[in-house]
Amino acid sequence: MRIPVFAANWKMHKTGLEAVAWIREFAVATKNLSAADAEVIIAPPFTAIAAAVEATRGATLAVAGQNLHFERQGAFTGEVSAALLKAAGADLVIIGHSERRRIFGETDESVQRKVTAAHTAGLVPIVCVGETLEERERGETLAVLDRQLKAGLDGCSGDQIAALILAYEPVWAIGTGKNATATEAGEAHTHLRRRLREWFGGTHADRCRILYGGSVKPENIKELIGLEDVDGALVGGASLESSTFAAIVSVSATL
Ligand code: PEP
Repeated sequence: MRIPVFAANWKMHKTGLEAVAWIREFAVATKNLSAADAEVIIAPPFTAIAAAVEATRGATLAVAGQNLHFERQGAFTGEVSAALLKAAGADLVIIGHSERRRIFGETDESVQRKVTAAHTAGLVPIVCVGETLEERERGETLAVLDRQLKAGLDGCSGDQIAALILAYEPVWAIGTGKNATATEAGEAHTHLRRRLREWFGGTHADRCRILYGGSVKPENIKELIGLEDVDGALVGGASLESSTFAAIVSVSATL
């Protein structure tokens, strides 16, 4: 039995004050939801993490970074390490988001180094994988997922796999309003779980939560979360309004 996880990726949106207002509104909107129904994570920009951590004290919301540098410290102007995120109060970190891969040149190798850095600092990685439209049209979806998964999780122990969160995010569905169909998402998630079982053993693989990400909205979450290997969602645009994200999370209570 895996508790569903819903993660709000705010990208480059929200000040500390706006984060605090969102957290207060979200708490009111989800007051009837119990921790056994769903785990909820927010990923604010670095500058709002401290305020978000303070505002979530005593609540069941966890705070994640949206990225990290794999070195522990040093002359890396503009970068933030896993240890700095942990010290700011974050418990998780998103790694390998397609915007990082596409816009900032992140590679499978840097994803692997970031996963190791997160584990070393005691952060839970939320590792993103997913194919582009061209890769899907060439019939390469599962091969791309295999490559990203194998390289990104190289060196992880079974216990680390059980605790980490994987996000299947087809690149063509992110921020486009076009979500994967239940058939497309189901095929990818089942494949990812199968690979985790082969590489890390069934006990660990069956504990790992695999989220779907890509234009999730209150209107389409029910169909996606109903799939056997979909354990929640990573939500960008629809997480910016607390009420919309609360509506998405509340679906888990009806499962
Ligand atoms: C994301 O940024 O991870 C994402 C899934 O965005 P959106 O929900 O806007 O497609």
